Amino acid sequence: MCGIVGYSGQKHPQKILLDGLKSLEYRGYDSSGIAFKNNTDVQIIKSVGKVTNLEEKLNHEKIIDCHIGIAHTRWATHGVPSEVNAHPHRVGNVTLVHNGILENSEEIKEMLIKKGVSFKSETDTEVICALINYYYEKDAMLAIYKAMQKMKGSYALGILFDDEDALYAVRKDSPLVIGILKGEYFIASDISAIINYTNKYILLDEGEIAKLGEDFLIMKNGKKIEKQILTANTDSELKDKCGYEHFMLKEIMEEPFVLEKTLTPYLENVKQFPNLLEYEEIHIIGCGSALYAGMIGKSLLEEKVGIKTFCDVASEYRYKNIIYDRKTLVILISQSGETADTIAAMRKANQKNIDTLAIVNVKTSTIARESKMKIFIEAGVEVAVATTKAYLLQVAVLSLMAYKSSLKKGIKDNVMKEFKDLPKLLRKILNNREEYRRIAEEIYKKENIFFIGRKIDYAICLEGSLKLKEVSYIHSEAYQAGELKHGTISLIEEGMPVFGIITDKDIKEKTISNIEEVKSRGAKIILITNEKIDKYDYELVVPKLNDYAQSILIVPVLQMIAYETALKRKCDIDKPKNLAKSVTVE
Ligand code: GLU
Repeated sequence: MCGIVGYSGQKHPQKILLDGLKSLEYRGYDSSGIAFKNNTDVQIIKSVGKVTNLEEKLNHEKIIDCHIGIAHTRWATHGVPSEVNAHPHRVGNVTLVHNGILENSEEIKEMLIKKGVSFKSETDTEVICALINYYYEKDAMLAIYKAMQKMKGSYALGILFDDEDALYAVRKDSPLVIGILKGEYFIASDISAIINYTNKYILLDEGEIAKLGEDFLIMKNGKKIEKQILTANTDSELKDKCGYEHFMLKEIMEEPFVLEKTLTPYLENVKQFPNLLEYEEIHIIGCGSALYAGMIGKSLLEEKVGIKTFCDVASEYRYKNIIYDRKTLVILISQSGETADTIAAMRKANQKNIDTLAIVNVKTSTIARESKMKIFIEAGVEVAVATTKAYLLQVAVLSLMAYKSSLKKGIKDNVMKEFKDLPKLLRKILNNREEYRRIAEEIYKKENIFFIGRKIDYAICLEGSLKLKEVSYIHSEAYQAGELKHGTISLIEEGMPVFGIITDKDIKEKTISNIEEVKSRGAKIILITNEKIDKYDYELVVPKLNDYAQSILIVPVLQMIAYETALKRKCDIDKPKNLAKSVTVE
């Protein structure tokens, strides 16, 4: 999602803010902007498209002398991506940047128009700016506080007041951290944006308003509060592609390493998973790839462990009438831990006193903080917008947790060694680039592609298809293999690539029949499996493993094919159009 950076200190903020915006680019955006402020002037510069466009503009402007500034990459929710709609917005005395959505923007706008305020943009953000300005009478904290009482929705705000030599910040349901260095303050949507300057930071909690200037102050409901200063791990991996052409490729290549790092403590019993057998029902909730990881988990928990498990899209679950009539565990899956819909799903369960378990990558995130139990995946920083290593780790954690639950239940498959061997096997699989290039060559000019499989293989298909869509922009669909003939098979035509995934031995023959059905209608079959069948155009065979761990070897094959295909199509692989990394809006 969008990114915020802000600075208040002794230095000129231009480089700090631009560096920050560049490191937040991975979150996805469509325009950007920056504001500088001194005692007499506020200078705002905005641009549509890449941050380099903004940089170019800055190079041609005479920038004011100052030591306070805010900057933003926007992912439009209200109004098209344009210079007018880009942030910072400015009304009267107030200039601000915003991440999130003001849900009652129309209502507040109407109220303000009646008071004589006029608006230049289509954004909800300008409404927030006008509202704070409306309440501002020399007390910035009070104006922000009053505006917050009226605002519904989500926001992280960096705010400047013409008459104040300070930067203000506040957040609700959108991420924001405050970086601290002697006499210098930073704000950022995530610590990666400022890590080159400081690794000391404060997590701003909901309802807290920060004043960052000569006075450093954090207030909640009119009272000053003390906050703990935290230390972030400095991650040099953040900026560096380590010689790889794209972050996506670098991150796929890191999979064996992060897999080992994540699973070893559980394999060696240094860490324990929560006892899933205590629950009569499990709900697994996520969005996008996290949801598809959840579907693999659901399949294993039901099929292998025998626990009734549902899987749902967070944006649906949060609004549904969920009947919690049995002892239920809600598992929330999110890489960033800031996914707005997943946060809402977690809070729904928390409010009903239902146990929640988060599977997250970012340890300081909202979901990590608010869920009752947590399992951290050790993906490190994932920069490419399309997730690869984090998704794989979500699958791995669910698979191992299912396996450990089955052991507890007395089911005696001894497959621990295979879990231990996974990183080694994965390394070999990732080395087959030639093979993935060959498939990419076959499919990169196609317009439509299908992925078919049954049960757990269908869950794998969903992620394979999503990855291809995200990075190569080829239309693809994942289908339950047996369902195709009930309508969609009409789309199959001569030469259309169809990926068949077969790992589940119990339904292998059934899926083969479905593959035959599309083959006989002209489809070009690309089979990905763990046992050669020797009858299709392409057959990629991964080492055969137990049912728990098998998908961990299949998924990287699909990720590599998506990558190689996008590469051939010359796509913007690390930052696909319209996509955002951590989706902090509904
Ligand atoms: N809702 C705001 C807008 O559309 C902010 C979106 C964002 O988070 O970038 O301008």
